[in-house]
Amino acid sequence: MTQIELCRPACLEDALRYMSECAPEAEAARAGARPIAGGTDLLISVRQASPGELADWRVVDISRLSEISGIRRDGDLVCIGAGATHTQIERSEVIAQAAPFLAEAVRSIGSLQIRNRATIGGNIMNASPAADSLPALAALGAVATLASVRGRRETPIGELVTGPYKTSAAPDELLVDVRFRALASGEHSAFIKVGRRRALAISRLSAAVAVCFGPGAIVRDIRISAGAAFPAPCRIVGAEQVALGKTYSVDLAEQVGREVAEEMVQATGIRWSTEYKKPVLAAIITRAIRQCAAKEGVDAWPE
Ligand SMILES: Cc1cc2nc3c(=O)[nH]c(=O)nc-3n(C[C@H](O)[C@H](O)[C@H](O)COP(=O)(O)OP(=O)(O)OC[C@H]3O[C@@H](n4cnc5c(N)ncnc54)[C@H](O)[C@@H]3O)c2cc1C
Repeated sequence: MTQIELCRPACLEDALRYMSECAPEAEAARAGARPIAGGTDLLISVRQASPGELADWRVVDISRLSEISGIRRDGDLVCIGAGATHTQIERSEVIAQAAPFLAEAVRSIGSLQIRNRATIGGNIMNASPAADSLPALAALGAVATLASVRGRRETPIGELVTGPYKTSAAPDELLVDVRFRALASGEHSAFIKVGRRRALAISRLSAAVAVCFGPGAIVRDIRISAGAAFPAPCRIVGAEQVALGKTYSVDLAEQVGREVAEEMVQATGIRWSTEYKKPVLAAIITRAIRQCAAKEGVDAWPE
């Protein structure tokens, strides 16, 4: 039976020291230590790896580190520890107030059993294009804190996740937390996910939208992001510009939806899935904007 080296540090400092000792710079022939939080993604990689590959693995269990746990709000600033589980986020009063669409997004992940174990840090660092926390975090302009024995650095979520299953984190760096400004009071948000089935479905596409309306239903601020549509998490700024400063209407929501779909095609090129994804993305962005407008009382959605 293949044995995997497992380190169970008692504190963040010990975890970072172990990761530094295992970094490829220190031991060129081997991959660095792999953090395990909930293990809901990592254990799938274990099953997919060959015994030869596994013999090389070193795993560091970060699931009990209090330094990366918890959800806090200090004034406008919200901080979610990388070790916070999706269940904790889904049930957090702080998140319900500050970023309701993030709570909706994590509520859509897997099953209750998965959400009880799986963490937001693992969701981000696995960097799946279908990761459901990423669109809301991108719309919120979230910034990630990475730590290593060399110190701490902050990086926007769209620069941390650089592409499908790729991050800019160094092998000895651990994600500690993500921070963002709370949505303004009166700013409405919505998250919509499309999967192949109703339950336990990975996103085929998702939409995360927040809108702040001014007097006369003017779109004063709008943030739009989409999952499984762009190479990396981002705000879809061109589409946001279409709506900014205009008076809200269903036509405007549809126009923005079409613009987001156009931007997806520009970013990814035409693919086998474009025929499906283009109209569906336009529809879910439109629907998310309409849901925000309905919360403001300027749209009759659902009709
Ligand atoms: C049945 C099932 C259904 C699922 N459904 C969904 C779904 O609907 N939507 C969705 O988005 N995901 C889904 N997932 C994927 C998974 O549950 C999530 O991505 C989860 O958030 C991963 O968190 P984790 O703590 O389990 O990560 P782990 O498996 O522990 O780690 C994942 C990766 O991140 C790295 N990592 C973890 N924490 C850190 C850290 N703090 N710093 C640096 N690197 C770190 C690990 O080394 C590993 O590479 C599903 C998985 C399963 C098994």
